[in-house]
Amino acid sequence: MKYIFFILSITIITAQEKKNKIDDGPTMEQMLEAYYTAFPEDRGISPQDTEVWEPEPKIVTPGISNLAPSDAIVLFDGSSLSKWKNSPTGKDADWIINNDGSMTVKVDGGIETKEEFGSVQFHMEWKTPTKMEGKGQGRGNSGITFQRRFEVQILDSYNNRTYSNGQAASIYKQHPPLVNSSKPPGEWQTYDIVFMEPKYNEKGEEIRAGTLTVFHNGVLVQNNVKILGTTEFIGKPQKGRDKVSKYMPSRSLNKTIYIQDHGNPVSFRNIWLRKL
Ligand code: MG
Repeated sequence: MKYIFFILSITIITAQEKKNKIDDGPTMEQMLEAYYTAFPEDRGISPQDTEVWEPEPKIVTPGISNLAPSDAIVLFDGSSLSKWKNSPTGKDADWIINNDGSMTVKVDGGIETKEEFGSVQFHMEWKTPTKMEGKGQGRGNSGITFQRRFEVQILDSYNNRTYSNGQAASIYKQHPPLVNSSKPPGEWQTYDIVFMEPKYNEKGEEIRAGTLTVFHNGVLVQNNVKILGTTEFIGKPQKGRDKVSKYMPSRSLNKTIYIQDHGNPVSFRNIWLRKL
């Protein structure tokens, strides 16, 4: 009897040990030893040698849904256009402010920020008119232009064919979007854009191209593409600090952010950015 009990205990203990082994897995020492056996040249280097702890990334409270995070500069929250001026005249912007916290293009040449901006993470929501008028480039056309030089196209591209490098979310006449993730007219759409400004030398010559990354309604449509120069309606992009798109309403070299008036009543809301 004693003998049977002894055998049984051994069996239970062995099974228990086996179970522990499976549950706990190998120890860190065992894993490291297996690693160093496979890569003997790394013996003497510890995992901690390549850990970077400082600086600790600053904590930022994300916004709810598409609302601005805590460190954003809000350019338009529905209450006023105080951050914007009329582009051709330089006077205060007076596009139509709607009751739902949005604003709508007034045919007056476009608006631009009063402040200049370098590289930014940029968010905006836009909506083309429910009443579809025009076709191709004539339907719901606007655009968001960084530094008065580089336009990300805004257009009703839902069942509205135009040239690919001029449809919604194209870098105008430079890069078509990877896919067409447009919503129907009358629905709010989002742009989340990372704009990295070009670098210039003292003479104003470009020494490093700018880049754009664009998410349209949450879908990646421009993946860190190189900006070829100013976006142009006619002719090639122009490179250099002292160039602006020829279709800008004034020749100012200010590096402001411009929203295009293309004669269509496109609406906008919830515009914010974070400086990079
Ligand atoms: Mg446009």
